[in-house]
Formats: sequence, C-alpha cells, structure tokens
Amino acid sequence: MQLPPDNPKHQGQRMRLVALLKDKGISNTNVIQALESVPRHWFMDIGLESHAYKNKAFPIAADQTISHPYTVAFQSELIRVNEGDKVLEIGTGSGYQTAVLKAMNLQIYTIERQRELFKKTQRLFTQIGLRPRHFILGDGYLGMPEHGPFDAILVTAGAPELPMALLSQLVIGGRLVIPIGSDPQIMYRFTRTGEKSFDKEQFGEFRFVPLLKDKT
Ligand code: SAH
Repeated sequence: MQLPPDNPKHQGQRMRLVALLKDKGISNTNVIQALESVPRHWFMDIGLESHAYKNKAFPIAADQTISHPYTVAFQSELIRVNEGDKVLEIGTGSGYQTAVLKAMNLQIYTIERQRELFKKTQRLFTQIGLRPRHFILGDGYLGMPEHGPFDAILVTAGAPELPMALLSQLVIGGRLVIPIGSDPQIMYRFTRTGEKSFDKEQFGEFRFVPLLKDKT
C-alpha cells in the first residue's frame, strides 16, 4: 500500500500536538525533536488519518492499540537514554514508539507477539526505511537474552506481574520502564544498581492493552 504524504498540514498538526505534550510536562529535547519528526499517521489505518495528531490511543490490527502520544513521550523520557544507547522495546505494535526511539538515535531491538501485526509492521518498516537492529516475532516476557544486556527496556503493554527475565537483561545502571497491574496499570521504573539490586520508582496510572503470555 502507498504511504500517505507527510505534508505541511500534518506537520502543523504535529507541532500543535507536541506543544500540548510540552504543556503536560514533556521537556526532554531529544524526545521532543523525535515526536516532531515522526509522522504518526503512517502508523495508523488510512481511515484514521485525520485523527492521528490527537492525544488519543487508536485501534491498530489484531485488537491492539497505538499508545497515546503522551504515553509514548512519557515512557521515552522515563528510560533516560543517551544517544547510541541499546534499547529493547516489548510490544512493537504499530511501530510508532519504535520510530520515536529510532529518531532519538538509539539502537533498537523490538519484539511483537502477534503475527499479523508483526508482518504488517515489518512491511511498514521496509517501506519507510526504518531498520531496527533486531525485530522479532516472539514472547517479550523472555526479552532477548542473546542480544542483551540493554541500557534500557521499555514495555508498551500492561504486565500482570514483573517479568524477572527483563531485569536480568539490564546493564548495571540500566532502566526498565514497565506498566504493571490491570486496568489501570501503575508505571514503574526499575534501575539496576548492582548485580542483584534494583531501585524502584512509581509514576502514576496508565491504561495499556495486556502483556500476554505465549505466542499465537
Ligand atoms: N508501542 C505500540 C503499543 C502497541 S499495544 C504502539 O504504540 O503501537 C502493545 C503491543 O504489545 C501489542 O501490539 C501486543 O500485541 C504486544 N504484546 C502483548 N503481549 C506481548 C508479549 N508477551 N510479547 C511481545 N509483545 C506483546
């Protein structure tokens, strides 16, 4: 399918959305520049194009959702990355968060569980020339041990419990940002302070689709 253009109208809408996110407290310049540069409408169904720059979640394939722009911005700040850092994303979904991380000049590893979405997003990535270091169909609960450790791990689905495998794939000093619980979830940041020690911080309520076990 042909990609819709990214014209001045979209760019203007995007600038207004980013201004709203700044009003809501987003301040990291690397995150802001990434949000200004990524055409969110490319990651949504063509029929939803006129809604792409609203601060809302929308349906994508396989009963999943593209996260709120504020949530994407907030999680992108919480991982506290520097350019070139190695980041693992769990729940590629539409690929929008992946594209934002890529625009922040990070090395991206990303996992999606739903085959239909994986295929769709893989095609989109090829079309827009977005090449993560590694993009797999698999179970994010397990992480990507063969490619770790990571400077940061970002989970974009609500986890019923903390996946221990992810903690063990952080470098010392690395951060895991993960919403835990069910409807709503609480956003947590775990920072690895030593071989077996972690700091835990809490950042309020969010709503995500669930992080599911086992591949379909
Ligand atoms: N970052 C995405 C969020 C999509 S919603 C976006 O903004 O589009 C969360 C995604 O997590 C869904 O695509 C869902 O299929 C995926 N998911 C759920 N459980 C998973 C698991 N165990 N491993 C990997 N992906 C998972």
